[in-house]
Amino acid sequence: MARFNTQLVHGLPVDDNDTGAVNPPIYNSSTYAFPSVDSVPRWDYARSGNPTRDFLEHQIAQLEHGRRGFAFSSGLAAIHAVLSIFQPGDRIVAGDNVYGGSYSQLNDHFTRWGLEVTTVNTAGDLDRLERAISGNGDTAPAKAVYFETITNPLLQVNDVSRIAAIAHKYGALVIVDNTFVTPYLQQPLDLGADVVIHSATKYLAGHSDVIAGLVVTSSEDLEGRIYFAQNRLGGILAPAECDAVRRGIQTLALRMDRQQKNAKAIAQYLLKHPLVASVHYPGLGEDGEHELTVKGLRGAGGVLSFEVKEGVDPSVVLDNLHVFRLAVSLGAVESLAELPARMTHFELPREERLKVGITDELIRLSIGIEDVDDLVEDLGQALDKAYEALPLDVKQTIDADNDSQISKLIA
Ligand SMILES: *Cc1c(COP(=O)(O)O)cnc(C)c1O
Repeated sequence: MARFNTQLVHGLPVDDNDTGAVNPPIYNSSTYAFPSVDSVPRWDYARSGNPTRDFLEHQIAQLEHGRRGFAFSSGLAAIHAVLSIFQPGDRIVAGDNVYGGSYSQLNDHFTRWGLEVTTVNTAGDLDRLERAISGNGDTAPAKAVYFETITNPLLQVNDVSRIAAIAHKYGALVIVDNTFVTPYLQQPLDLGADVVIHSATKYLAGHSDVIAGLVVTSSEDLEGRIYFAQNRLGGILAPAECDAVRRGIQTLALRMDRQQKNAKAIAQYLLKHPLVASVHYPGLGEDGEHELTVKGLRGAGGVLSFEVKEGVDPSVVLDNLHVFRLAVSLGAVESLAELPARMTHFELPREERLKVGITDELIRLSIGIEDVDDLVEDLGQALDKAYEALPLDVKQTIDADNDSQISKLIA
């Protein structure tokens, strides 16, 4: 069987035309002719399936080590289809720092349809997680646990194997959003997950030019239920978009290698910067590398976040970036920067945000494939602008703090 990088490029080739085209065609047809009235053709109507989507669905199933893949018009459409397999009265345990759109879909949409949602920190105390899944005698065990492999924007690493072991004790399904990690760095199904979801908008497509979602499962029963949701709710991905995701996937490993190398260098630069209070990037130092290994990750990905020191205005940093674009989203070839408290997580009340660690000073970076020196210089000059904008007393506090750090280093 072909190895991972070869799979990325070729997928599972289908020889369905004699043109010699090296890429699978974009079948621009909503309907497919029946050979005769009573025949059961492979394709009939493009919502139910079409060859371009089929190629991508097989490709992602192969990469995620699953049985079957499904392509949707967005990551949230994929999540909607997966969560719609549950019944009113079912309880779902969800990570307390999942993507805002997923959080709101669960809490503002699915609770109206009778799902019960319990939120818990899946990356922290696993006993608490177990109590939440089991229901602790107060309520029936959860039907599923839903979390992201690496959380956003604080980059906490969830332990898929351990969470899956706990969930399966109570018969709960394990649904993992693998957007930040991709199958290049981890296949959650191998670690016990039952369903993997992607916002393919991010790393898989990788060029900020398409909105798409993917689902992979390894169980025959789930396969049928998710196919029903895909075909009957109808949030399918159109053939041209399927092709854009397929093409993006071909370069996933190359992009991710550079993004990780750049992200690590930037994290190390920021760690030493006098205006920076903390840096969140998994895999830093020996402890970090150990954590990744233990949790079954082959790398930390290309997103990081950092906090500027109290008194420093993070919006001055962001407004002065030139190479980084000030934008939400992530996982593309170009570097992006944003302020979670005001740009992506503003729906969360401030108190809730602070509880999960999203402070007003937190800046999130999605690192692209540019020359890392350009990215570091860009951050450096923007942080200089923020320093110049400080009132004198804050400058003095930061200078004094920095001097004492330097003298500590010398001593
Ligand atoms: C962006 C994102 C989503 C939502 O995907 P869309 O393609 O925007 O619908 C879900 N989960 C994570 C982790 C994301 O980053």
